[in-house]
Amino acid sequence: MKKLQNYVSGRWITGDGDGQLLIDAVTGDPIFAATTKGLDFAEAVRYGREVGNPALRRLTFHERGRMLKALALHLMAVKEKFYQLSYHSGATRADSWIDIEGGIGNLFANASLRRKFPDLPYCTDGEPVGLSKGGTFMGHHLLVPKEGVAVHINAYNFPIWGMLEKCAVNWLAGVPAIVKPASVTAYLTEAVVQEIIASGILPQGALQLLCGSAGDLLEHVTAQDVVTFTGSKATGLMLKGNRRILEESVPFNMEADSLNCIVLGRDVTPDMPEWDLFIKEVRKEMTVKAGQKCTAIRRIFVPEDKLEDVAKALGQSLAQTLIGNPHNDKVRMGALASTGQRDEVRHNVQKLLASSRIAYGSLDSVEVLEADARKGAFLSPLLLLNEQPLRSEDVHEIECFGPVSTLMPYRDLPEAVLLAKRGKGSLCCSVVTADDRLATEFVIGAATHHGRILVLNRDCAKESTGHGSPLPLLVHGGPGRAGGGEEMGGVRGVKHYMQRVAVQGSPTTITALTGSYQPKGKTVEDEKHPFRKYFEELQVGDALTTHKRTVTEADIVNFANVSWDHFYAHTDHTSLEGTLFEKPVAHGYFILSAAAGLFVDAKKGPVLLNYGLEECRFLKPVYAGSTIGVQLTVKEKLPQDPRDENDIPKGIVKWLVEVFDETGEHVAIATILTMVRKKGIE
Ligand code: NDP
Repeated sequence: MKKLQNYVSGRWITGDGDGQLLIDAVTGDPIFAATTKGLDFAEAVRYGREVGNPALRRLTFHERGRMLKALALHLMAVKEKFYQLSYHSGATRADSWIDIEGGIGNLFANASLRRKFPDLPYCTDGEPVGLSKGGTFMGHHLLVPKEGVAVHINAYNFPIWGMLEKCAVNWLAGVPAIVKPASVTAYLTEAVVQEIIASGILPQGALQLLCGSAGDLLEHVTAQDVVTFTGSKATGLMLKGNRRILEESVPFNMEADSLNCIVLGRDVTPDMPEWDLFIKEVRKEMTVKAGQKCTAIRRIFVPEDKLEDVAKALGQSLAQTLIGNPHNDKVRMGALASTGQRDEVRHNVQKLLASSRIAYGSLDSVEVLEADARKGAFLSPLLLLNEQPLRSEDVHEIECFGPVSTLMPYRDLPEAVLLAKRGKGSLCCSVVTADDRLATEFVIGAATHHGRILVLNRDCAKESTGHGSPLPLLVHGGPGRAGGGEEMGGVRGVKHYMQRVAVQGSPTTITALTGSYQPKGKTVEDEKHPFRKYFEELQVGDALTTHKRTVTEADIVNFANVSWDHFYAHTDHTSLEGTLFEKPVAHGYFILSAAAGLFVDAKKGPVLLNYGLEECRFLKPVYAGSTIGVQLTVKEKLPQDPRDENDIPKGIVKWLVEVFDETGEHVAIATILTMVRKKGIE
């Protein structure tokens, strides 16, 4: 039997012994063996920390992001081999798409996320904090990549997505990974890691793979490492309580069992589009991946007077699901990952049957296409019905990790909220309603117990990503029973692999540290106008103090005419009583335009265009007779990647624009963006 390979300390290594036999979920035939016996786990952690970590942490966010993009493109080009292998896990092609292309999509999304970070190996977190009256002392928060490894212990249901959704984030943060997939489907993770390593895109030590037992891996982690776990509550709790994890204060992110639910709004009737959306969403969540999704709907709550109609409609819908060999493209639901898992699901359904009955499906028999139901891990979708959800505990406690969901009635919205929360913390829930007041009441009521809430109706259904899809830019995780962890979530996710430190000092020091100009920091003015400097020549803190201009009544009248903005405060002397203004006030946008007139250098040069405005405040009224001047300072520089070889090399420069009046007080402050050419090409 072919043994899966482990990739440790920069080498492919075969574990000792026979290992665990991995079985084809459809045929029941043995296909691979997995063993990590004989591996030196301490050495793996050391290698990640000493080789992978320094290589990644010295790259900037932008370099790491481009690396993720290259990797995503590479894996997309070879994805077909993963699809073929994925049939062994019982997955249909549509199921595999979630695992394979969903996983690669995470690499793409995190690659693009680099633009939210500076072109530095580290970044700031939140706003600067002024700490003194004179403005010479301030604070800021910095995030630096941790100096360890991310250890990912993953579940069997998403062997590819599970690795890539986590690694995309730790790589962008500048931290290497050691991945331990669940053994049952580790052959898919191994195939992807083979491709990743062969591509040579990642630096040495950025990724290691263990196919088989985790051995004593956790005995070697420290506070600079991060451990993530996805799987059963029992294993998760055992690992979270590991002495080493506790003693070393190792960050531990857990995602475990989750009794996710869906609620049908009281407003929805069978003739509304929301009714069909509800039925379709439930069927999809029960049958996609044969219900083996951490986000799948386990509990269905409907108004009590609709219980019968929903049961009937769901039964009819589930009856259309063709089950069998996923190689046949008519098949809509394949096998579970192993017969062991199927038996576990049956066992848990038996427990639920103490308070529920089967409304659709059979525990003992299932009709399958082009497969042998006795050898493969097949199970019929099972819709259970529990008419006393407030009196039952088990239905809110027991996760049947397969195509199983329980239908239950509720009386009114507060009861629906209460029932949703009986899951004691879930990854996600959905409410299907056309009534936004009802949606608001439900969401605010249920939010404390959920990681993500989908409000589904006719307006968003066509483009909705669905109840069950965790998204790279949104938080994935849930409180309480769901493990209390958070993964992904865009910029938020990256922070899980970084250390936050509060730094205090002068604005000039903080400018130097952060690469972002801090007000009252030192500026540099020279003979050359900053608009005549190329992107590389401009330095954060480069500044220009402009000449001045006295605002006249004619300016205000002319601007009102040009812009058609005849708001009374600018044009009507008689309406100012009881307002904040003494005289007609200059338009804020005039002040900004006048500022541009003062600071631009008009002649053609490296500045290509005005890219927009980020922050803008009008702080003090400007009347005719006031004299304004501007200080323009380079605040931040963001290099841009050329789209193709014909693209002009360029970057975005953020400028702090401070407009003062004759008293020296700020009248307006803004951050404007320009696109600036890089040197060498005229
Ligand atoms: P497990 O908790 O058994 O396994 C999850 C991961 O932990 C696997 O990689 C497993 O490796 C590893 N593991 C197990 N024991 C140890 C240990 N002592 N030290 C280190 N790592 C260990 O979950 P399963 O994948 O077997 O799934 C079982 C149940 O978990 C499902 O039926 C379902 O109820 C739930 N589950 C929940 C998910 C969720 O996100 N909500 C996702 C997947 C499963 P190995 O495979 O080698 O044992």
